[in-house]
Amino acid sequence: MPKIEVKNPIVDITGDEMANVIWEKIKNELILPFLDIKLVTFDLGIINRDLTSDKITYEAAEAINKYKTGVKCATITPDDKRVKEYKLKKKYPSPNGTIRNIINGTIFREPIILNNIPKFVNHWNEPVVIARHAFGDIYKSKEISVKNKGRLFLRFESFDKKQIIDEHIYDFPSSGVALSYFNIDQSIREFALSCFNFALNRKIPLYLSTKNTILQKYDEAFKKIFDELYEKKYRKIFKENNISYQHRLIDDMVACLMKWSGGFLWACKNYDGDVMSDLVAQGYGSLGLMTSVLLSPNGEILETEAAHGTVTSHFLQHKNGLDTSTNPIASIFAWSRGLLHRSNLDKNKSLKNFAKNLERVCIETIEGGHMTKDLALMVGPDQKWINTNQLFTIISKKLTKLKNT
Ligand code: NAP
Ligand code: MG
Repeated sequence: MPKIEVKNPIVDITGDEMANVIWEKIKNELILPFLDIKLVTFDLGIINRDLTSDKITYEAAEAINKYKTGVKCATITPDDKRVKEYKLKKKYPSPNGTIRNIINGTIFREPIILNNIPKFVNHWNEPVVIARHAFGDIYKSKEISVKNKGRLFLRFESFDKKQIIDEHIYDFPSSGVALSYFNIDQSIREFALSCFNFALNRKIPLYLSTKNTILQKYDEAFKKIFDELYEKKYRKIFKENNISYQHRLIDDMVACLMKWSGGFLWACKNYDGDVMSDLVAQGYGSLGLMTSVLLSPNGEILETEAAHGTVTSHFLQHKNGLDTSTNPIASIFAWSRGLLHRSNLDKNKSLKNFAKNLERVCIETIEGGHMTKDLALMVGPDQKWINTNQLFTIISKKLTKLKNT
């Protein structure tokens, strides 16, 4: 059987340590033997970022904008220890942050569900997808400490001085603290667009949570912008796809999260998303089963990756010539979800089938009892585990068999 032809390229971003070892195996054993595809590759490993003074990260992001699909391996975000370890010129920022700012998208985190892998929250049978609005709020706030009695104001002054707002906030009777933060309509609107488009793509209902009963201007702005877009642009097409959009109070939404069995997209404000994405990830169990997608507001540009890092501890074993049992599933799904996006853009049915088969084969393999150590430990003491190389052999054999039938 000939390889499946893929007309347009995808951007392939390589990374660091064990994650990168797995990344190369995925390409060589699960992608390139089956697809006639052009990969536009950028090496975002820490050594090359240092060599290029991080220019490579900007170039990779621009390429994703151009080709509209990118798949990314985990990369080291240097801290002081890494700066020493790699003798870096400086402490470069997280590549994910740089890429996100250029694509201007929203990050969606989604767990992969496997029947035989127990979850901490047993009845989450379908994924809860979390979208975090990564702009403003407390992350860009300014704080002050107050030492004396005194009066606190919030002041806005338009550049043309035509509008001045002076809001008296509080009279301090003694020492204390205060803060101020902000958001802008444009960013909220782009967040909303990304969320509506993601929900539509995946055919899952969308919930936005806020505390608009208390923050009647700030959080109400989120609700209003989502409501307006829904009425104007999405209500009809959501209905045609049997999905819905609803605003809920954050407290109510948290209760629903525990009660429901998953299968929805939850649009979170910045802080809520920070906290809830870790809560939900833990509820499903394993980092090795968590995927992450960055989607532009218009839904056209997509970058995928595994949510876990470079798995440093396993890389140390690997360097010492030992076989590791590192879970490649989230990285493989980064590829399948990227290819699926390419297939939708190009209307390439064979590619779509391949991407779906790749996911199905992974799920069948693990549900058939062949899994890495992290998952086996979750199943229990009697569950056998295999190393990464053995798992790849099984998956690639199954793919080859599918191709030839
Ligand atoms: P990590 O690489 O996710 O690993 C933390 C631990 O989780 C591992 O030691 C391992 O536990 C387990 N684990 C994670 N992924 C696994 C997998 N696929 N299979 C099996 N076990 C897995 O996080 P980290 O150690 O905090 O960070 C390491 C480096 O990754 C850092 O330099 C950080 O900057 C970077 N990072 C990058 C990204 C990204 O690019 N998106 C995200 C997070 C972190 P055991 O050791 O117990 O087996
Ligand atoms: Mg967090």
